Amino acid sequence: MLLFHPRYESYSHLDPESRALMRKTIDFFENKGLERIKKDDRERVWYADIIEFFKQEQAFATLLTPAGYGDKNARWDSNRNCAFNEILGFYSTSYWYTWQVSMLGLGPIWMSDNEAIKHETAQLLKDGGIFAFGLSEKEHGADLYSSSMSLSPAADGQPGNYTANGQKYYIGNGHQAAFSSIFGKQKPAPAGEKRDAFVFFVARSQHPHYHCNKNLVNSQNYIAEFELKDYPVSEKEILSKGAKAWDDALNTINICKFNLGWAAIGMCTHSFYEAINHASHRRLFDHYVTDFVHIRQLFMDAYCRLAAMKAFSARATDYLRSASADDRRYLLYNPIVKMKVTTQGEEVMNLLWDIIAAKGFEKDTYFEMAVRDIRGLPKLEGTVHVNMALIIKFMKNYFFKPQAYPEISRQLDPVNDDFLFAQGSTRGLSGIRFHDYNLAYNQPRYTNLPNLKVFKRQIKRFKQLLVLAGPSPEQVKDIDFLLNLGELFTLVAYGQLILENALNLPTDLIEQIFDVFIRDFSKYALQLYSKASSTRRQRILALRLIAKPIPNPQRFEKVLNEHVYSLKDNYRSV
Ligand SMILES: Cc1cc2nc3c(=O)[nH]c(=O)nc-3n(C[C@H](O)[C@H](O)[C@H](O)COP(=O)(O)OP(=O)(O)OC[C@H]3O[C@@H](n4cnc5c(N)ncnc54)[C@H](O)[C@@H]3O)c2cc1C
Repeated sequence: MLLFHPRYESYSHLDPESRALMRKTIDFFENKGLERIKKDDRERVWYADIIEFFKQEQAFATLLTPAGYGDKNARWDSNRNCAFNEILGFYSTSYWYTWQVSMLGLGPIWMSDNEAIKHETAQLLKDGGIFAFGLSEKEHGADLYSSSMSLSPAADGQPGNYTANGQKYYIGNGHQAAFSSIFGKQKPAPAGEKRDAFVFFVARSQHPHYHCNKNLVNSQNYIAEFELKDYPVSEKEILSKGAKAWDDALNTINICKFNLGWAAIGMCTHSFYEAINHASHRRLFDHYVTDFVHIRQLFMDAYCRLAAMKAFSARATDYLRSASADDRRYLLYNPIVKMKVTTQGEEVMNLLWDIIAAKGFEKDTYFEMAVRDIRGLPKLEGTVHVNMALIIKFMKNYFFKPQAYPEISRQLDPVNDDFLFAQGSTRGLSGIRFHDYNLAYNQPRYTNLPNLKVFKRQIKRFKQLLVLAGPSPEQVKDIDFLLNLGELFTLVAYGQLILENALNLPTDLIEQIFDVFIRDFSKYALQLYSKASSTRRQRILALRLIAKPIPNPQRFEKVLNEHVYSLKDNYRSV
């Protein structure tokens, strides 16, 4: 099955110990049952039970300790971690969140040169510790340059002794973290430090100078506002300084934002099962709801979008795992997993909610929780805008300066993803080159796919628009205009990785997916046309991007019956 299914998922691509861990995690949730999961969600119960389970099964210690610091099977293996994300998202985003922020908190630790802290962290993971990532501050949002958490020489005047002062805001697990990785600035900046003197250090949430003020959200999660007041820090607690601290913050987010897409896939999958079960049994006006023409289309589009989310993310995992100093293509695909896959998740939920209507409000459905939580994913680890602003930097090289790379096969080996902790400088993004997207679009196996032909024509015309009427110097400064161009560009890269076909999607399904993409491309083209600053030439060329998919009723029927409606009564939460 393409979609995750708690009973049928075999995890045949994982080693036996990892497979057993995934199965036990599924069993934990199946035994807990939807009713209890929903009750805990409603009553905002801190999820001590899953944290105890993680400890008992050594889940975090196994999955979140890089090779060399933990037991035999401990390694940072993104392939395994994506599977774990999908399971947690499938059952509850809250449970997923405590894992997500632990991962974020661990990033700067594993990237650091502080070996003593790394070994202590490995032990804390074995002891069942959770972790926190202290980046955000109340006043500064995405503007990390303005961070006001300070690390100053201690009053005792001893070299290497400091005191930390400042507040952090929106910090998940911030009340119970074994270590919170805190980002701040050295004050005064050390002599010779030209840029801001950034610093990362660890703080213990149970220390008397660590004051957790409150939970900022009304949920099972604890998203802390906390304050360090004269918190003592020595060199032993420092993870990194200067440009490295800055790079480690961004490189940690590079890794962890990937999780958001997989959580969205899990959430949409569970919601899909609920929606199809409900609609296929509901009889109105002497018809099953699933027989209505518009419902067939809504289900088809929801399934195609979900299949695309998963196919793209699976292939992007290959680029993440095979990344190196010479191959940083993952820096385009990761933000797409974060930004595009999570917003597609919102789209899938919208479509499903249109189908199940009132049912989506019922308190004992998984759906009611997911439709609330899906909104959060595009906003965490940098907003959609911030990620799109990053993606746009790659557009020129992607279209106009392709470079040959060795073929990247599927990356399923049980190995540690070493490079993720040695990503190096976050600069030089505009120098990153990509392999030619035409290689994926022009594969012989896709030669006779009519919708793909239409989409390829749209890409060709988009490229013409960029050459003949690219953004003017004023438009380059207009982020609103660029965001729209970025949507068109993203769709090309999204389609490319889907066609590299990590999950062996059949061509009928691929054609249906491109039916959706042609319509999306047309929508973004019309938005570009309508932008206040678009020029006459841009408007003419934008209209040429609008196209209609080639209808094929037989193919539609086949995909609907074989892939979509066959999911009826396939999974029902107990
Ligand atoms: C539930 C929850 C949990 C969280 N957990 C953590 C955590 O554990 N640790 C942590 O450090 N943080 C955490 N955060 C913070 C989260 O990462 C930020 O909320 C997020 O990055 C967005 O920041 P902001 O809401 O402050 O938006 P702002 O930074 O205030 O942005 C405002 C608007 O400006 C836009 N914008 C800002 N800068 C740019 C730019 N350069 N280009 C284009 N547009 C821009 C944004 O897209 C947005 O629309 C959490 C937040 C929430 C809600």
